[in-house]
Parts: sequence; structure tokens; C-alpha cells
Amino acid sequence: KLRRKQVKGLMRERIPREILEVLKTVGLTAQEAGYKVYLVGGSVRDLFLRSPNLDLDLVVEGNGMDLAKKLARRLGKVRVRTHKKFQTAKLIFDDGLIIDVATARMEYYKSPAALPVIELSSLKMDLYRRDFTINTLAVSLNPKDFGLILDFFDGLRDLKGKVIRVLHNLSFVEDPTRVFRAVRFEQRFNFRIGKFTEGLIKNALKIDAFKLLTGDRLFHELENMLLEEKATDCMRRLGELNLLEVYHPKLKLSDKLEAILDSVEQVMAWYKLSFLTLPTRPWLVYFLALADPLDEAEMEQLCARLALAPRLRREIKEMRAQTLKVLNRLQRNQLSPSKVYDLLHKLKPAYQLYIMAKARQEWAKKAVSRYLGNMTKVKPLLTGDDLAGMGFDPGPLFKEILERVLAARLDGEVTTKEDELALVKSEFGSYLEKTV
Ligand code: ATP
Repeated sequence: KLRRKQVKGLMRERIPREILEVLKTVGLTAQEAGYKVYLVGGSVRDLFLRSPNLDLDLVVEGNGMDLAKKLARRLGKVRVRTHKKFQTAKLIFDDGLIIDVATARMEYYKSPAALPVIELSSLKMDLYRRDFTINTLAVSLNPKDFGLILDFFDGLRDLKGKVIRVLHNLSFVEDPTRVFRAVRFEQRFNFRIGKFTEGLIKNALKIDAFKLLTGDRLFHELENMLLEEKATDCMRRLGELNLLEVYHPKLKLSDKLEAILDSVEQVMAWYKLSFLTLPTRPWLVYFLALADPLDEAEMEQLCARLALAPRLRREIKEMRAQTLKVLNRLQRNQLSPSKVYDLLHKLKPAYQLYIMAKARQEWAKKAVSRYLGNMTKVKPLLTGDDLAGMGFDPGPLFKEILERVLAARLDGEVTTKEDELALVKSEFGSYLEKTV
């Protein structure tokens, strides 16, 4: 049994002081308004897993929107967005902290015949609608019982046992996206999907519960998995559970697929470490790898099932053809830096990374990493002004000259500005004579 004192200690240790102060203010404000308020969901789970999480979810027994507005007034430096239909609100702080406020709905259960109407704790009802036991923990924030943990569904037992477990048999039928969430949490935390829960996943697959899922939601959960550090493990696990075929019947786990996904993971880790950021659409690199076994028509079907935007679909189609061409060229023989630049500079980073992941020879991989690491920063020393000063007419010729100078610089043919001037004079001097 967890003591309130232990939970408070954990909160003091794991939650930054300013945020803890905010949580105390939340409790106090609720108390004054006659509400009860709880911290719930992912942030409580992550508190016990000792993993940082700044997305705080609150459930209010009372009026959530009212509490959010009162808090915004009291705390300052925060924007509130309310959603009347769902009785929810979002508090967005200047420093990036986000607090979601939900209202626990009171639900009354009419029991048969003469028995009285029973009222379940609305917090418990709210938590019962959630996906997994580990996400149902709640910590009370009202001053009287601040730090008291409420564990209606044995979430603490499953956190300790590292198990992902649903709350009831119909969970995946009710919402099949939970299947992907189960895999994502399992891989992220190195947990295991419980035996019975795994059986329910197989059942959902058998009755094809996924066919009712919109492409949007299917894509969103795929994207979430592909944004995980262990994206490849998520895909491997989907394959094991025969869940890849939900996206497309041709998608199956194979050594080849695992190899390319592993390679993407390495490339993504390298990119993140080198540039301290991710390319735009980071999921796309994995997505291209995942779709490697599909031909063009099958890829179209996959994109359609995921309801990708038409523009993105067109881009992917074009780029898949182009990346293959570039890859072939890159792998045939070692190219000069300027040739590598030529091949890569018109592609977006996601496609460059896909090429890097797919390249079999180490030197071909290196060529791409060198491009991303150094070449994009290289610029000629000569400027348009210099060219005009030399007597060239501004226009398309400028571009051509500067591209030639850049190529020479990439290949080490020139180092100083004088070198560049000499090169321009010797290769483009004839244009000057014509215009003079
Ligand atoms: P992450 O670290 O990925 O953000 P999280 O648990 O905070 O994980 P959210 O997707 O932000 O995840 O969800 C917040 C809470 O809402 C979860 O803790 C979960 O209990 C609940 N939830 C989210 N999606 C579902 C769903 N499809 N079915 C039931 N409950 C859900």
C-alpha cells in the first residue's frame, strides 16, 4: 500500500517546484469552489515510472470549465481554451506546460425494479472509460487530501508487474485504436501486453474491428508509434501480432523489413544526435521503409486507407521513384562531393534520410551523411555583387556561375576568393568579352 507521504515525496522529487506550486493552487481553487480535482492519466503513470511528462490531465468532480477560468485568473501568464460541448478546457502556460481540464460526468445507474438509483463516484466512471489500467491512476489535489492516490483498477499492481491490461472485454471493440496504443506503451516502457489482453487483440483482428476505423485515426496512431524512440520495435511487435495487415494485406514482418527499419532507426538516431532536431515529418522515413515491399498501386491503397492528403500522396509517389534513381546512382560508384550535392539537394530531408538508410555500401551512406552534415552549409565566397562588379549582367548566368563556383568549392578546387575569381575569369570570361 502506498502511503500519502510517499506519494507526496515522489511528487516533490519528480515534479519541478513551480509546477508543484501550480498543482497546489489547483487544489486550493477547487476546494474554494466546492469541487474535487484529481491529477490523472499519463502524468501519474509517468510519475511512478520516474519519467518526465509535462502534459498534465485533471479531472474535476464539479465544473471543469469554471475551474479552468478561475485558475487562469489566479495564475496569470496562461491562455485558456474551452470546449463547451465536451465540458473541457486547456490551460496553456507561457513556458510550455499544458494542463487539460476535464469534467467528470455524474452518471446514475438505474437498477432494476424497486432497488434505489445508484450513483457511482464520477471519478471512477471517468477512469473506467480509459484504455489501460496503468492509465487509470489518480492523485487527489484538494488540500485536505493532497497526494492521496486512488487506484480503482489495480493500476499500481500492473505498473509494478510491467503489464498492459485493458479494463474490460469490449475495450478494443469499443475503440480499436487502443490496440496500437497498447503496443506503443508496451514498447516504450518495456512492458508486456497481458495474456488475456493479447487474446482480446487477436479477437479484435478476427472480427475485423479495424474496418470501422477512419483513416485519420488509423494514421494518427501509426504516426504516434513512428515518433517513438523505439519505432522499429513497435513495428516488429505489430508484425508479430499480425497487425501490419490492418494497414495493407501485403504488409508482413520479414527479415528484410526488419533490417530496413533497423537501419532507419540508426539513421534517425544519428540525425537527432547530430542536429538536435528531427526532420519535418519524421514518421515519413519509417513509413517509406515500411512500404518498401509494396508496389506503386499497393502504396496508393495504403495511402488511401490512411487518408493521407492528396498532395502528400502525390509527393510520396513521385519521391519514391526519384529516391530509387538517386540511390542507384549513389551506389554505382563513388562520386565527387559536387555530384552528390547535385543528386541530393533538391530532396527533402526525410527522403535523404530514407536513401541513407537504404544504402547498402558504407561509402554511399557516408556520402549522404556528409551531405547533410557539411555540404548544405558550404557557400561560394563570391557574391552576386562581386559578379556585377566584374561586369557580368545579372540574370540566369549569375546562377550558373555561382553553381559552378559552389561545385568547385565542394570538390576542393578552390579555397580563397582569389581562386574563385580566377576560375570565373577562365571559365566564363568569354561572356564578358561578348558584352563589352
Ligand atoms: P503520451 O505519453 O503518449 O502522451 P498519454 O497516456 O499521456 O501518453 P494521451 O494520448 O495524451 O496519452 O492520453 C491521455 C489519457 O487519455 C491517457 O492516459 C489515457 O488514459 C486516455 N486515452 C487516450 N486515448 C484513449 C483511448 N483511445 N481510449 C481510452 N482512453 C484513452
